Amino acid sequence: MHEVSLNEIGRTLNLTADDMEPLEQAHVRFPVRITPGLLARIDPSDPLDPIRRQFIPSPEELIRADHESADPLNETKSSPVSGLIHKYPGRVLILTSCRCPVHCRFCFRKTNLPRSLTGLSGSELDRIADYIRNDCSIHEAIFSGGDPLMCSDPELGALVELMSTIPHIETVRVHTRVPVVWPERITDGLVRILTSGKPLWVVLHINHSLELDDSSRDAIRRLADTGIPLLNQAVLLRGVNDDAAVLADLSRTLIRNRVHPYYIHFLDPVLGTAHFAVSLAKARRLIRILREILPGFAVPRLVRDLPGKHSKTEHLKEC
Ligand code: SF4
Repeated sequence: MHEVSLNEIGRTLNLTADDMEPLEQAHVRFPVRITPGLLARIDPSDPLDPIRRQFIPSPEELIRADHESADPLNETKSSPVSGLIHKYPGRVLILTSCRCPVHCRFCFRKTNLPRSLTGLSGSELDRIADYIRNDCSIHEAIFSGGDPLMCSDPELGALVELMSTIPHIETVRVHTRVPVVWPERITDGLVRILTSGKPLWVVLHINHSLELDDSSRDAIRRLADTGIPLLNQAVLLRGVNDDAAVLADLSRTLIRNRVHPYYIHFLDPVLGTAHFAVSLAKARRLIRILREILPGFAVPRLVRDLPGKHSKTEHLKEC
């Protein structure tokens, strides 16, 4: 995959030296990363373009609010072995890769992502397998990261096969942005690996319908055609999708592409993201409107992750 440089971003979006300065500062803290395909979908004449806002840092990212933290979900406390998070009963998260094809400026794992370019080592994988084997209450393995589809085919194949050898693992879930931001990665070989083990679900992360183009729609279709269930979890982001018409359009686009709009998450308060925050009152208002204009299955569940809770906290009932 071609790595897009800051200069290329500057040229494509017609950024001035003044625009580049905060971008370079933000890049030092959390490297700017965007795929060529996604960069090409940004309208350079629109400073409020929803793709630009998600992937190109704004000066506000350099501001640190008091309530923000480097690890807002306290995940390090829920990691009994390196590369595994066991927060919720019955399921574990395996941090298969520290790499992502894009860096979302609001990512709650942003402080961990650039720490390594390699995936799990053999000994880490052994310890993860032992941990899961020794706890029969774990029925689901969630491949997360970074982005699990940044693993090579052999690495991913080994993980899928490993899960097949553990009898109490019933399902595997893959959390990924790759089909949308780097659709060329969804090859026949990759699809064969994903369908070779335990029943597997793919959870996409799409926040705005403009993220999809013909090639990403095609990648999603190829996954859906194999029978892999597809869900979407979006993040509610000020200036990106905090608008009922935008959210309704996203839901309809997902349904048309056979993706269930499953969750809409509150922003996790990681460092430098206050400019993306949406109030609970506004979020509830948006969901109320969606309920009026969409069929029930197309309305995502409004949730937030809170440190110390044994499941996601849902805000639907109060809406
Ligand atoms: S793709 Fe996911 S893990 Fe990667 S930067 Fe975006 S939100 Fe974070």
